[in-house]
Amino acid sequence: MVNRQRTLLVGGLVVAVDPGQPESAVLDVLVEDGVIVQMAPSITVDQGACEVLDMRGRILIPGLVDTHRHLWQSLFRYAGADWTIENYVQAMWGKLGPAYTPEDVYIALRIGLAEALDAGCTQIFDWNHNHLTPEHSDAAVAAHMESGARSILGYGQSMTTLGEFLRTGPGNGSIPPSEDIRRLRETYYSSDDQLNRLAMAARGGEVATTEVIATEARQARELGLRSSIHAGNANWAKLRPVEKQQAAAGLTDDTTWVHCNALSDDELRLIADSGGTVSVSPELELHMAIGPVAIRRLLALGIRPSISVDTCLNVSGELFSVMRAALSSVRGDANAEVIASGINPLELPLSTRDVLQFATWEGARANGLLERTGSLTVGKEADIVAINTHRANLMPVSYPTGAVVVGANPANVELVMVRGRVVKRDFALVDVNLAALLDRAQVQNEALLRRIGSRFETGLLVDS
Ligand SMILES: [Zn+2]
Repeated sequence: MVNRQRTLLVGGLVVAVDPGQPESAVLDVLVEDGVIVQMAPSITVDQGACEVLDMRGRILIPGLVDTHRHLWQSLFRYAGADWTIENYVQAMWGKLGPAYTPEDVYIALRIGLAEALDAGCTQIFDWNHNHLTPEHSDAAVAAHMESGARSILGYGQSMTTLGEFLRTGPGNGSIPPSEDIRRLRETYYSSDDQLNRLAMAARGGEVATTEVIATEARQARELGLRSSIHAGNANWAKLRPVEKQQAAAGLTDDTTWVHCNALSDDELRLIADSGGTVSVSPELELHMAIGPVAIRRLLALGIRPSISVDTCLNVSGELFSVMRAALSSVRGDANAEVIASGINPLELPLSTRDVLQFATWEGARANGLLERTGSLTVGKEADIVAINTHRANLMPVSYPTGAVVVGANPANVELVMVRGRVVKRDFALVDVNLAALLDRAQVQNEALLRRIGSRFETGLLVDS
């Protein structure tokens, strides 16, 4: 008989995100071989064959899902705190990105993935557009597979093509896509049952020519990969990237559109009609002048978005603050309109439950993983986050969903489980030498700056 790996989480306050389900209940949760097999007010097990975790006083939520983060940029965390998108393009695409070694990629991804797990983000789409050589790609794969996170490596068609953006301008990128993505699919990602998966991070119409768009779409189709495309970035949206995509390759329901801020209504409708999903990064978008956050316009068309950090250059790598930014932007805009009409708002346009769904259910849907993840449901894989409420910022608890979304932060995350495996316990990551990774990151950061003869001066990258 095969020994099953069993864990019983006892007495947690389970916050459900499944549409139509009661919002919260105190339940025991039994996990067997990585899958939630039972949820009930009281579950009895043979103690000897099962790890029992006391979850009384904890709120249990599904692992948070980030559908778009450029993890390689975590090596320069907060360097861009005061950058516009133009500063970003010059620094990251023009100088820092092209100088990355495979070791830089590896260490950036390890600290970025550790930060995500520490903050209860169990599933992350790494929008990686710095595959300078196959060795850089191998380093990225290693970091993903060693991290313990459920991850999707979005294969972006290399920093050389993004560097081309600086020479040719928006919409003109024509460097042919690398075929190395095929090697990654065959060598590392041959099964779609793996915890770590591969996707196409395509350039799209704001960066690439029609021919390149068509080739990248064909690669994704031939390799059976989902795609993610940036669109609606400030004035680049005038290039009409969704229409361009439709003409070059057709629109598919396995595509996630990132940002969408400045897209026209008819292009948003094209996305809605295609069944595609959207990832919004409200905190980053507000900071970096990408355009007005698109959430209200998306909801009006029936698109419920997922959310994302985008880059840790100018926001922190945790989704609690992104959920709050989503709420703030939508409520701020809607309330201002009502007040301007001469009355006071009588209802809010978006609830905390809505944004918790964006950060879990909708994220899993955008990653093509909703059947396995995105909610605490019998039959789904056990990606579970326990938030300890016995903290100065959370106790007493009156409304659990509200407490998670507007009150919690990564320091409240006591336990994190990915497919049944505990990766954070007693408020600390396990099976990782975090201190050593962070020390290496500091060394790599300084060495890269030395190699290119640059330094940061009041936040801006300058020659040294
Ligand atoms: Zn992005």
